Amino acid sequence: MNRYINPDSDGRFYGLQDIVEADCHDCAGCSQCCEGMGDTILLDPFDLYQIQKHGKVTFDHLMTHGMIALTMRGGMILPHILMTDDTDCCPFLSDEGRCSIHPYRPGICRLFPLGRDFQGDELLYILLEKACARTERTGVQVGEWFDVEQVEAYHAFVRDWHDFRRQMGEVLAGAAEHQAQELSLRLMQNFFVAGYDTEKDFYPQYEKLAGRFRRAFAGMYRDESAHL
Ligand code: SF4
Ligand code: SF4
Repeated sequence: MNRYINPDSDGRFYGLQDIVEADCHDCAGCSQCCEGMGDTILLDPFDLYQIQKHGKVTFDHLMTHGMIALTMRGGMILPHILMTDDTDCCPFLSDEGRCSIHPYRPGICRLFPLGRDFQGDELLYILLEKACARTERTGVQVGEWFDVEQVEAYHAFVRDWHDFRRQMGEVLAGAAEHQAQELSLRLMQNFFVAGYDTEKDFYPQYEKLAGRFRRAFAGMYRDESAHL
């Protein structure tokens, strides 16, 4: 398969077990990735679960305190970290230039300077070496770099969420305007606003929810009664 080569990468593709020169040693003295990021730090359901569980804040709290905002991607409404008006920095960046939510930072943040590369059902990782200010990085196993428990389950979730977004994007593109609006809001409400039971494991909750939507919309609005 001919894969697109990201010009900021080293041209290679990595799996979970591979060693990659991504370890920038806690980014000490650098916070380039936390400044001027616009709406690119998208949050996924696992990110919200983590912030809800460890940061003890709800989606509504994050919205009303201007820490996150909403954007459209592929027809879906998704939350993203909102840079501050005055300094154009992430609201979680401390005055000392450190991430104040480091143990439960979003997946995009914990991954960098790695990026994700989706091809069909496959998810591989790329090293965005030209996008990282630190040149003296050392080798680390890809799965270890994520710094999450149940790394295989996390990897499977990221791949499935990408697939789910693609599937819902197709449904939304084929729906009438009022149906698309209603579905977009339902997706937002169910996957982000409603929150998760943080006493329980995330993955079964996500799988159940995604399964419900997949079953309900398998008919792609051929059945007007598709209802959740
Ligand atoms: S969440 Fe943390 S790592 Fe991510 S952009 Fe904000 S301060 Fe940086
Ligand atoms: S540019 Fe590299 S060293 Fe700087 S914050 Fe980002 S990942 Fe860390």
